[in-house]
Amino acid sequence: MKKTVVAYAALPPSCIARLAQTFDLRDFTGQSGLSRKPAFATALAEAEGVIGAGLLWDRTRIEACPKLRVVSTVTVGYDLYDVEALTERRILLCNTPDVLTESVADLSLALMLSCARRIGELERMVRSGHWKRSVDAPEFGSDAYGKTLGIIGMGRIGAAVVRRAALGFGMRVLYDARSDKPQVERDYGAQRRSLDDLLRESDFVCVLAPLTPETENLLGAREFALMKPTAFLINVARGKVIDESALAVALRERRIAGAGLDVFVREPLAVDSPLMLLDNVVLVPHIGSATHETRQAMADMATDNLIAALTGGEPRAMVNPQVR
Ligand code: NAP
Repeated sequence: MKKTVVAYAALPPSCIARLAQTFDLRDFTGQSGLSRKPAFATALAEAEGVIGAGLLWDRTRIEACPKLRVVSTVTVGYDLYDVEALTERRILLCNTPDVLTESVADLSLALMLSCARRIGELERMVRSGHWKRSVDAPEFGSDAYGKTLGIIGMGRIGAAVVRRAALGFGMRVLYDARSDKPQVERDYGAQRRSLDDLLRESDFVCVLAPLTPETENLLGAREFALMKPTAFLINVARGKVIDESALAVALRERRIAGAGLDVFVREPLAVDSPLMLLDNVVLVPHIGSATHETRQAMADMATDNLIAALTGGEPRAMVNPQVR
């Protein structure tokens, strides 16, 4: 008898076809408000595997899935999953590292350059018919070339950002991580700093650490006050790593020059968020990995992971391999 599997993320037809061929697939892809749907709860209660993204997997949800053996998330970050509770139940969690690294690094650079060159602001000026003369000092931006970049969280994506910044933009790179990163030090001259020193010295601060109890609200009013008034903050990690209200105040009062944000405490961002009223912030809707090529690669990897884990094979990435 085929194992029951629930799919609830947007997956391409090729992945749905593979899952349907291998499993008894309960397909909830493209549906919203799943937590309120009795049919979804019934399917989860029967499922041995799930594949999806964007849903909170806390103890309550895990306990409502008595047959569950594998969760395959179509993300690299797993802050929405209670890994301890999954591990206690010997449920394997698989994720999708590496395949999205270059796309997220590209977006980090795109936000840095958009902030420095005021792309959003000046594009709005052109569209609104306010381009009446050559741009002058009040509209000038700042260079990225040759400046200092501070990366908080020097992992896979951090290293890909460093490669671009050091080789392409001649930037000096500082980083904060929990351990030394000899390879980026050797290859790109990156230097490890304490968080406070990194904030004081950097022209661009790029947040690429995962959301964990240690990193929640890692940057707030105190940290923004340490930054240069000419510096830009880029967050492509998770919204809750930053105190968003304190950031809005720092931006409004020009204590820092600007910010580029892909992620927010609540997504989608509310239309009445104070960030919406500020010109010196570039806001994009969580598109770090949102390219055709990368989303296909993530879906393929998550599908491979689920099929391998439930058919005796070796998944391509596991968060808690000790449960096997
Ligand atoms: P990764 O390879 O695991 O790198 C994370 C790095 O953060 C590690 O080097 C780790 O340092 C560091 N770190 C952990 N806790 C820290 C702390 N308290 N202070 C400073 N650094 C800390 O992960 P990745 O693949 O680069 O992805 C990073 C994050 O990006 C993900 O967790 C996810 O939240 C986010 N992301 C966002 C998007 C998007 O669409 N916007 C897409 C993909 C990923 P050590 O190595 O020393 O432990």
